[in-house]
Amino acid sequence: MRVPYLDLRSQYEALKPEIDGAIRAVIEDSAFIRGNFVADFELKFAAMHGFKEFVGTGNGTDALFVALKALGAGPGDEVITAANSWIASSECITLTGATPVFADIDPDTYTIDPTSVADRITSRTRALIPVHLYGQAADMEAINQLAAQRDLRVIEDCAQAHLAKFAGRLVGTWGDAGAFSFYPGKNLGAYGDAGGIGTNNAELATKIRVFADHGSDPGCKHRHLTEGINSRLDGIQAAVLSVKLKQLQKWTEGRVERACWYDELLQGVGDIVIPRVRPGSTHVYHIYCIRTRFRGRLIEDLRTKGIGTAVHYPTALPFLDAYSRFAYRPGDYPVSHRYQSEILSLPIYPEMSEGDVGYVASAIREFF
Ligand SMILES: *Cc1c(COP(=O)(O)O)cnc(C)c1O
Repeated sequence: MRVPYLDLRSQYEALKPEIDGAIRAVIEDSAFIRGNFVADFELKFAAMHGFKEFVGTGNGTDALFVALKALGAGPGDEVITAANSWIASSECITLTGATPVFADIDPDTYTIDPTSVADRITSRTRALIPVHLYGQAADMEAINQLAAQRDLRVIEDCAQAHLAKFAGRLVGTWGDAGAFSFYPGKNLGAYGDAGGIGTNNAELATKIRVFADHGSDPGCKHRHLTEGINSRLDGIQAAVLSVKLKQLQKWTEGRVERACWYDELLQGVGDIVIPRVRPGSTHVYHIYCIRTRFRGRLIEDLRTKGIGTAVHYPTALPFLDAYSRFAYRPGDYPVSHRYQSEILSLPIYPEMSEGDVGYVASAIREFF
């Protein structure tokens, strides 16, 4: 038996006629950049979240960067994000000219620890980028409280957490802006790079649209209000996303169901720590992350049994070569540092059968 870490092929098989038709329609219409298919997806994604506006971008990294830039971050500013995340969460900060500052993660939920954020706020801090890591909402009440006290902007990194909720409210709707990725492997994935920004601030949305499209005046071609960048959602990706968006709720429930199966089957196995969900939050399980001290040997053992795994992430951001200029030591981020050698992501996607989950769980049981 084989259980790959990710299986995008079977999702495509299930939707093939509709997706192929949607792609063909874009080509026949030559609606490659912006245009109806993009506008249609933007409206639907906004409506699903109750955003006043959703602006498509070329990818999720640009979504973070453009939002941060539009909120005014630049040289001399500091922006705080989570020590355990994908590099996009901090890269976007450096790209604006601001300095990334890392906060450690909560030992139970692995999301950004508001206490650690509070410790790192200075007079230069301009914004916070909480990451809804693995699909679990960060503690947005605490984050927004800090932001209100210190007059900071908040951009939520929602790349892994489509439709996740904190205290009953969708992620992306808590901050000034929510940045989404539709990278193919994400819970809502395009067939190439894609991303976007949701906001309830119409003025901010306009700034975002202008900056992401060469600083162009939306109402007047060849009039450039400022310099910007080229980061637009393309029509083919938008059309694919519109087809898939209809499945997102069902897929999300499918992920949660598979996580429950894992939870039951892995309870009390070896020294494994299964994911913990913060009371009042929902977790959409972009990643089902366990912890074990025997990670290296377990990965090898599962590989021989045909099971794919991954690590998100093997080096916490402060310890990447990219940030050697800050010379951080393990003690600066004790939780992130300890967990980087223990975390392990198991296969999870809505197309997995109960048998697949059972097979992975018994392989882990056998190992221990
Ligand atoms: C995937 C991801 C991004 C970046 O998205 P891209 O579309 O790949 O640019 C940002 N933050 C997190 C946490 C991610 O997982």
